[in-house]
Amino acid sequence: MKTFDFHVAQDTVDAIRTVAATGGKYLAGGTNLIDLMKGGVEQPPTLVDVRRLGLNSITTTPTGGVLVGAGVTNSALANHRIIRARYPVLSQAILSGATTQLRNMATAGGNLLQRTRCPYFMQTAFSECNKRIPGSGCAARGGFNREHAIFGASDECVAIHPSDMAVALSILDAVVHVQGRTEARTVPLSEFFTLPGRTPDRDNVLQPGELITGIGLPPSEFADNSWYLKVRDRHSYAFALVSVAAGLHIENGIITAAALALGGVAAMPWRLHEAEASLIGRRPDGEAFGTAARVAMAGAKPLAQNEFKVDLGRNSVVRALSLAAIDRTEEDNQS
Ligand code: SF4
Repeated sequence: MKTFDFHVAQDTVDAIRTVAATGGKYLAGGTNLIDLMKGGVEQPPTLVDVRRLGLNSITTTPTGGVLVGAGVTNSALANHRIIRARYPVLSQAILSGATTQLRNMATAGGNLLQRTRCPYFMQTAFSECNKRIPGSGCAARGGFNREHAIFGASDECVAIHPSDMAVALSILDAVVHVQGRTEARTVPLSEFFTLPGRTPDRDNVLQPGELITGIGLPPSEFADNSWYLKVRDRHSYAFALVSVAAGLHIENGIITAAALALGGVAAMPWRLHEAEASLIGRRPDGEAFGTAARVAMAGAKPLAQNEFKVDLGRNSVVRALSLAAIDRTEEDNQS
């Protein structure tokens, strides 16, 4: 690992000023960044420790939502009683990722900033990777691409974003709170990640030095009927081949609101607005879910090795919606 300076920030102003002055990186849980530094993929001259900035609380907001501090660990977030009660799909998604030990270290802000696990990106022995070395090519396009994107890719990059948490946040219409040197701003999650296009080295819209301070969750109407389905090669400690976050609001046996997003298929959570619209006014049954699944996968563009993701995605959407539609109120009352 290349040597680096280490600075423990005393407050957000100190943290942002130090990163801006040094071209360094923020360190929170470090569960992805340190791995990348050990492999030589990331070589920041300075690490700025942001674990003492007081960004580790979960609070309710006056509008009925929740504000999650960027430094809240994945474990604390997933197991928080308000999150479990009001946003169970978020708990479920987080608990499907990584391991207990990693979730105890990893933070909400860091989860959004984790980088793709494309093997050509993770291993510096490979010389072609536009995300790691802009202009060098994309080894995955003609190489190992079984786990790569089927939506939103470009000639320059076909990588996926690995987060489970972000897929659940997507259907909850979360916003990302960001602090820069001179101003704070909020970015809807739907606008936070960027597709690779011609600049795959960029993963999101953060400007240099900007710090994620929190994640805002508006009130959700999906608390009673939601599900996160993750399909992977083995049951634990594996990234999604395909995942689905599904939320339904059902009144008198009719779907009145729906939210759907796929994970493991694009460089961002892949929200499925047309499929959602197809569900409104329908009964929550196999016919409606089958239609939504067909609409969901209509624009997929698989690569040489991942055509299976189209069928897998279609079947996963049906299954996630079927599981979301189950009324668990009675189960909850008995537990
Ligand atoms: Fe690099 Fe993206 Fe191609 Fe993977 S898919 S090799 S991350 S450019």
